[in-house]
Amino acid sequence: MEKPNEPNSEDCCNSGCNPCIFDIYDEQLKLYEKYLLNKEIINTIPQNNAISQLKYTGFVLVKNLPECHLHHRLFFKKKSDDNMKVSWKPGDHFLYKYNTDKNSCTRAYTPLKVRNDQSLISDFSIIVKNYELGLVSSHLCNLNEGSITFWRGPYGHYNLECNKFERIIMIAQGTGIAPFISMIETILNNEDDLTKVILLYCCQSENSILFREELYYYKSYWNFKYEIFVSNASVPLKYRYQEPINSHRFSSNNLLPLKPFTNNDQVLICGAPQFNETYKLYLEAETPKVENIVLF
Ligand SMILES: Cc1cc2nc3c(=O)[nH]c(=O)nc-3n(C[C@H](O)[C@H](O)[C@H](O)COP(=O)(O)OP(=O)(O)OC[C@H]3O[C@@H](n4cnc5c(N)ncnc54)[C@H](O)[C@@H]3O)c2cc1C
Repeated sequence: MEKPNEPNSEDCCNSGCNPCIFDIYDEQLKLYEKYLLNKEIINTIPQNNAISQLKYTGFVLVKNLPECHLHHRLFFKKKSDDNMKVSWKPGDHFLYKYNTDKNSCTRAYTPLKVRNDQSLISDFSIIVKNYELGLVSSHLCNLNEGSITFWRGPYGHYNLECNKFERIIMIAQGTGIAPFISMIETILNNEDDLTKVILLYCCQSENSILFREELYYYKSYWNFKYEIFVSNASVPLKYRYQEPINSHRFSSNNLLPLKPFTNNDQVLICGAPQFNETYKLYLEAETPKVENIVLF
């Protein structure tokens, strides 16, 4: 067993992640100290993963596709060809290392599975929202295909358990849909999982709706329902047959039809910090078990 390398302060994305990379380092250091005493290796980190929580791994950016005026989808392939797969749990994130002469920092991004036709050329993809003044997001959206990038992970605190809840209610804002799309896929692809999934998804404009095709397709599953809320619907929206899109901003009133919330409901919220806080506060007053409210 090797002594883990202590991360630098710039290796933390400062988003309050749980666990933070420093928690993982502390845990590994304790295990290493135990190993020195007993010579017994206790591994808590999954082995045979092509990406590591403890050090950065190089991935080539193989495709950088604009999805709309706000988002890019980027596809990455491991630099070294060792036949190991990149794996993670739904809801996990990876950390991207940004490094230039002027700045060095990390940012969290949510890995997405690649479809079969792209799995030969890439190991994972991400959706990035291009913030005009965003240091790392604008750099990623403008990154040339063929560039080498550095990633570590997976990190995450959420475990999706089959049939643990009657309903899982997901409230997403913008790229906050990314962790939920993997969870929705996992639940719907498991015939034994009877969890009902309800997604409430807030978007800035019709053009910026992510996974629109996928969500429309999932609508045919008996246990999936969704509604999209477009806050800036200046022109009439183009709906498909029975596509559940609202041309107004989401508010707590849109949660009323889901009441009463019970012990068998879990509510997941993923958006900007202020959005998360607003709906967490609202739901804490409505839900019998506050521990069933999970923020991403
Ligand atoms: C667990 C986790 C998973 C994430 N997954 C994704 C993902 O899959 N895709 C993705 O695009 N992002 C994701 N993020 C956000 C991402 O880590 C960065 O914060 C984001 O890309 C902005 O970084 P930046 O360096 O471009 O912006 P910065 O340079 O840090 O910020 C510059 C300006 O951009 C704006 N800005 C930055 N972040 C936000 C924000 N969250 N909300 C509103 N305005 C903001 C603000 O105006 C800010 O002043 C995730 C964050 C976490 C914690």
